[in-house]
Amino acid sequence: MVKAAVMRGYNEPLSIEELELAPPREDEVLVKVSAAGVCHSDLSVIECKIPIPPPCVLGHEGAGVVEQVGKGVTNLKPGDHVLLAWVQNCGKCAYCQAGKTHLCPTGLEMGMTGQDNVFSKNGSPIGKMAGVGCFSEKTVVRATAAIKIRDDVPLESACLVGCGVMTGVGAAINTVRIEPGDSVAVFGCGGVGLNVIQGAALCGASTIVAVDLLDSKLQQAKLFGATHLVNGKSVDPVQAIKDATGGHGVDYAFEVIGAPPVIAQAFNAVKRGGSAVVVGVPGFDQMVTVPGIALPLEEKSVVGSLYGSANLNRDMPRMIDLYMNKKLKIDELISRTVKLDQINDAFDAMKAGEVNRTVIRF
Ligand SMILES: [Zn+2]
Ligand SMILES: [Zn+2]
Repeated sequence: MVKAAVMRGYNEPLSIEELELAPPREDEVLVKVSAAGVCHSDLSVIECKIPIPPPCVLGHEGAGVVEQVGKGVTNLKPGDHVLLAWVQNCGKCAYCQAGKTHLCPTGLEMGMTGQDNVFSKNGSPIGKMAGVGCFSEKTVVRATAAIKIRDDVPLESACLVGCGVMTGVGAAINTVRIEPGDSVAVFGCGGVGLNVIQGAALCGASTIVAVDLLDSKLQQAKLFGATHLVNGKSVDPVQAIKDATGGHGVDYAFEVIGAPPVIAQAFNAVKRGGSAVVVGVPGFDQMVTVPGIALPLEEKSVVGSLYGSANLNRDMPRMIDLYMNKKLKIDELISRTVKLDQINDAFDAMKAGEVNRTVIRF
């Protein structure tokens, strides 16, 4: 039996329950979860903006230690320290072969349905979010969803690489490959937005404009490398970004909220030839509207970014090395560390905009 946080219905607090956990099958591993981050996408599932059906164990940003491996698993052994990845790649399709494991269609589909008979209660199956389900003392995942990392990194910090760090830093360094001297704006300075900012700083962006509605988040943005702070409540962010770039706009404007009107603002804030990079996840039924004429006449583009466009086996250990060599901030992202029983408080704090990240320590 394992203790886990289960979504029993949309828009309800998670329920802490004892569940049965099946042993790992052929290509799976059992991971004892050491720490898990509470990400905005968990809240999006609770609010049915990402429609994963209940009952389901949430949690998709975690780190732990491998306890048991299935018969067919050759790349991991008990005792290995791993990050959990919310896209399980099949290793065989054209995307996987090309190193674009984050685009593996099998992986995303497995994550969205939630059902794989790993967790159950009194014989009834309980799904797991994104193939991970790490709001649980232990979980069983596909071997390709457990990324081996060096074992001298504290797992409480490393866990954030599993989603927020990889998604944000990867958007800056992989999706658009910012170059030294480029100008960047970031709309939304939560856990992922701060990582876009530090990714842009790592790439050598000269101007990094942070946009948020909360001054407290903008102060955090400054710590992560923002050069200009814009409160979208008091000024027009598009104008402020143009003012910060000699009237031109930025090379790249990242939208890290998932709100169509903000995506349009990001588009309007980029210069000729620039790109709006959509990292935030809009609702499944939402459309994004941008001025069509600017696509050809100004050669602007809207680019999507999933999971930091990462080749997970290459990039996650890189993120860890950057952190260990003090080139990436992770500890500064952690506002609170709590126990699993306090998980609903973590969502309240997130809704109130009080935290960068809450980490659950098991
Ligand atoms: Zn996430
Ligand atoms: Zn694949």
